[in-house]
Amino acid sequence: MKRREFVKQLGAGALVAGAVTTGCSTQKPGDREAQGTPAQRFHWKMVTTWPKNFPGMGTAVNKLVALIDEMSGGRLEIKVYGAGELVPAFEVFDAVSAGTAEMGHGAAYYWKGKSEVAQFFSTVPFGLTAQEMNAWLYYGGGMELWRELYEPFGLVPIAAGNTGVQMGGWFNKEINSPQDLKGLKMRIPGLGGEVLRRLGGTPVNLPGGEIFTALQSGTIDATEWVGPYNDLAFGLYKAAKYYYYPGWHEPGTTLECIVNRKAFEGLPEDLRAIVETACKAVNLDLLSEFTARNNAALHQLVTEHKVALRAFPETVLKELRETADKVVAELAGKEPMAQKIFSSFREFRDQVTAWDNISERAYLNTRG
Ligand code: CA
Repeated sequence: MKRREFVKQLGAGALVAGAVTTGCSTQKPGDREAQGTPAQRFHWKMVTTWPKNFPGMGTAVNKLVALIDEMSGGRLEIKVYGAGELVPAFEVFDAVSAGTAEMGHGAAYYWKGKSEVAQFFSTVPFGLTAQEMNAWLYYGGGMELWRELYEPFGLVPIAAGNTGVQMGGWFNKEINSPQDLKGLKMRIPGLGGEVLRRLGGTPVNLPGGEIFTALQSGTIDATEWVGPYNDLAFGLYKAAKYYYYPGWHEPGTTLECIVNRKAFEGLPEDLRAIVETACKAVNLDLLSEFTARNNAALHQLVTEHKVALRAFPETVLKELRETADKVVAELAGKEPMAQKIFSSFREFRDQVTAWDNISERAYLNTRG
């Protein structure tokens, strides 16, 4: 898809016009030079944790840079590198922190080796849904805390994508009781991985591009990835039979754009606003895309590829939930910043749950 088609698809025409005409109703992208103010041009690199052009996350990154290019009239041009092209997937954080690349795209739970509490800004087992996560970040103080947490690393985080509720994962045996998780070597990142470890499993953190081979070769027994749309694209059904739901460990995973702080502060104010606004547009766009495509992909997995769809039994979910509560509370107790973030997150979750009970939950139960 061409750059302008991305922008059109995002419905960003009006947004582009608004971004560049503020305070000057006749100015158009690229007009600055014509008016005698040479516009500084920036050429950035963006490293990602995803395979290049991977459906969903990879294409969202392409949309993001296309949108920034279009909105800035070409003043901020960003070249995208897929996982392993410039740096390996899990070195994205360090690369952007060091300024090797000005931007990165990934998820905060990949950086738990840098900051365990960063995981709150991707997803928390039995935590917030996508809509709730966005509400916490944009209107509940979450974004400010995220920026405070990443400041010592010289990074500015911006929410830039959400998967919605993920699937529970792919298994080669049925999970009928908590006992079935014991001894299980599973690719599962973040706090969900720690929950599995407490229940006797072995969590493994692998970048997306390495999952299929690991599962097929038996290096891992099970894996989670995202949801039907992405899992179908990786062909995970060829390596495991049982596909479990719900994704208790990732109820609404926020993807992040990280920007090197010095590079970000070196941008003129309008370009900084464009970067933030484009990320917000992609944050919504990716969630919409997953929501639109997941069910068709699931249908294909079940009917065409004969995948056995299974729900985790309540006995398993209860054990996972209770263990998750302990894991999250322990993390909160490790350092003052963790406690500060946890308090904000928990308070928000309690408040939003009270509202959701009489809005989203009540409505969906009624709709059936
Ligand atoms: Ca996942």
